[in-house]
Amino acid sequence: MSALTIKNVTFGDGGLTVMAGPCSIENREQLLEIAGAVKDCGVKVLRGGAFKPRTSPYSFQGLGEEGLQYMKEAGSLTGLLTVSEVMDSCDIEMVASYVDILQIGSRNMDNFALLKKVGQFGHPILLKRGYMSTIEEFLLAAEYVLKEGNRKIILCERGIRTFEKLTRNSLDLTSVPIIKKMSDLPIIVDPSHGTGRADMILPMSKAALAAGADGLMIEVHPNPKKALSDGQQTLDYSAFQALMEELRSLNAFLSHQYADLSSARLRAL
Ligand code: PEP
Ligand code: MN
Repeated sequence: MSALTIKNVTFGDGGLTVMAGPCSIENREQLLEIAGAVKDCGVKVLRGGAFKPRTSPYSFQGLGEEGLQYMKEAGSLTGLLTVSEVMDSCDIEMVASYVDILQIGSRNMDNFALLKKVGQFGHPILLKRGYMSTIEEFLLAAEYVLKEGNRKIILCERGIRTFEKLTRNSLDLTSVPIIKKMSDLPIIVDPSHGTGRADMILPMSKAALAAGADGLMIEVHPNPKKALSDGQQTLDYSAFQALMEELRSLNAFLSHQYADLSSARLRAL
């Protein structure tokens, strides 16, 4: 396992690094408020979508570059790292001028032209698993970025589409220990998109921690019912704070029980 450090945040050193924020950046005030709230809970990376890959072209598509300006401001005000999705090769340079980490979303995991371009560009990447992809295909997608000389990659398990209808996706936590065996890249888990259900985020986050994940990505909004996207899988502030507290206790328990989960986890939380 080789750890990846981006500015003051390390992934894959045995700690659990949490990314959180709204599904979509909706306006400046909302983003600055959420950034402060998640930072107070121990979050290290602010997430927020500006270019949104929505299933319907009639759904909110995101604020685009204006949203990224708010991300940059939120990052400098709080000291949090920032991550946002890039969907088009033409936008790589522009998105990278605003955020610390470029997200390649599930729908673009096998957009090989985009993978090659972000590989050449060299900015840190959060690569999400394609919702129809095997673990091997996921690792080969990362290989496209690595082959161009960019080793700054964080993998993200976000569930795959199965016949199950009670969840939006089936969160495949076996990918965590399998990827730990097959790759030295850090891997985080996104139980928000992985389940599509706010009530499943706590149990699946705990399971991800126990499975050895290097971090989590969680959608947070002050009023999920009013969120412009993915409200059904989004936590409000108090649920998110409770989640972080439970993760801290589980982490302390696991660190006592298992020598291979180092106390670094406690520091990172
Ligand atoms: C997201 O994280 O904003 C997102 C759209 O997730 P995914 O690509 O995993 O669907
Ligand atoms: Mn979302």
